[in-house]
Amino acid sequence: MTEPTHDETHGGSLGSRLNWLRAAVLGANDGIVSTAGLVVGVAGATSDRSTLLTAGLAGLLAGSMSMAAGEYVSVSTQRDSEMAALAVERRELREQPEAELEELTGLLEARGLTRAVAHDAAVQLTQRDALRAHARVELGIDPDDLTNPWHAAWASFLAFTAGALLPLLAIVLPPSDWRLPVTVVSVLLALACTGWSSARLGAAAPARAVVRNVSGGAVAMTVTYGAGALLGAAGV
Ligand SMILES: [Zn+2]
Repeated sequence: MTEPTHDETHGGSLGSRLNWLRAAVLGANDGIVSTAGLVVGVAGATSDRSTLLTAGLAGLLAGSMSMAAGEYVSVSTQRDSEMAALAVERRELREQPEAELEELTGLLEARGLTRAVAHDAAVQLTQRDALRAHARVELGIDPDDLTNPWHAAWASFLAFTAGALLPLLAIVLPPSDWRLPVTVVSVLLALACTGWSSARLGAAAPARAVVRNVSGGAVAMTVTYGAGALLGAAGV
């Protein structure tokens, strides 16, 4: 038996997996840009490797934890409102089952079934699992598969960390003359990849997304390098 609709944001559907993948790419992108800006800025002021490593690592941890906390809060809020909607639905099903059957029939009819078929389908769905049927058709959620805030938080944390590791390693591993060129080139290449992937996953035109994403990173690194160099020259 197939689902009556293709839901984009919930359940194990293709749309939902693409959304997760896209969120992971964007999280990695954030990690790359913010950490690159940070370490390039510090490199403008000092060539001391342990200072660069400390700043980069602190930026990685601060950024990944902030992303994880933000994601945890936002998914928890979404989950709370989904649970509240399910509780309302459960009560309505108990108190006015006939109105609910009529409502489900109407929703299925609105999706293109004839009145008679919609009624039969609604009766069958209600007999099997009324709450799940209403959750899916009416609310667009799967009651057994609500988004887990901890999963979302971990996913953000890992995505940001994966992105942040690139500029961090690029600034501390090469010999000092090579640090900036290696970091800038690898960051811009990585941003081209993340820009391209997120555009493809969102079915948008990749070329423009790549240009925007690479430009954004280039601006971030230029500004922070300029600020770092000014502070370094001023001896702050
Ligand atoms: Zn309902």
